[in-house]
Amino acid sequence: MANCEHENLILKKTSDTFFGETFDFKAEVCQDCGAYIWDDSVENQFNDWLGVLYQKKRTKFQVQFFLSKNAKDILEEFSNNYPGIPNTTILKIFVAVYLDIIEPNENYKKRFDKVIRGEIFESFQKGKFEKFKIQLKPNAFREYTAMAHLAGISLASMVEESVERMLALCVETDQKLREFWIQNIKKEFNRYLKVA
Ligand SMILES: [Zn+2]
Repeated sequence: MANCEHENLILKKTSDTFFGETFDFKAEVCQDCGAYIWDDSVENQFNDWLGVLYQKKRTKFQVQFFLSKNAKDILEEFSNNYPGIPNTTILKIFVAVYLDIIEPNENYKKRFDKVIRGEIFESFQKGKFEKFKIQLKPNAFREYTAMAHLAGISLASMVEESVERMLALCVETDQKLREFWIQNIKKEFNRYLKVA
């Protein structure tokens, strides 16, 4: 019933699966096709459920990915400028800046055309890899999962590439890209760091 107009709705208990967990909730359910309507009430119930899930199963909101030795070296060097800030925090901010600020901005995103063709970025695809993990907040996890889904890639790949792009950018020697990093992106990094 792909063309159902959902005209026959009743409020009832239903459930759905998110992140491999069952979400039980009350919603307007279509008597003809079984679809439910995602309205403000469902949104609120979902956020409550997500909050509880986050308390109980925090590891569900962790994302694991891999970085090459070169990427890791750049991360170490970068983190020397931020004493006392753990690498996981830096990685988390890299992901947030990339996905929240750069990804929605076509102009910013275009700057990476050159970055990802460079030697540095290429070096991230080879050599020895090490596992990294970041813990996301439920809302970020939800938002990034949807973004990855739209892009047709896994959340882990999206996170990994975001980190790699940021790491490649922060050591760019190209004049214009250096300015872009310092004037636009590093500022955002520092802004996120303040509230981390
Ligand atoms: Zn329907």
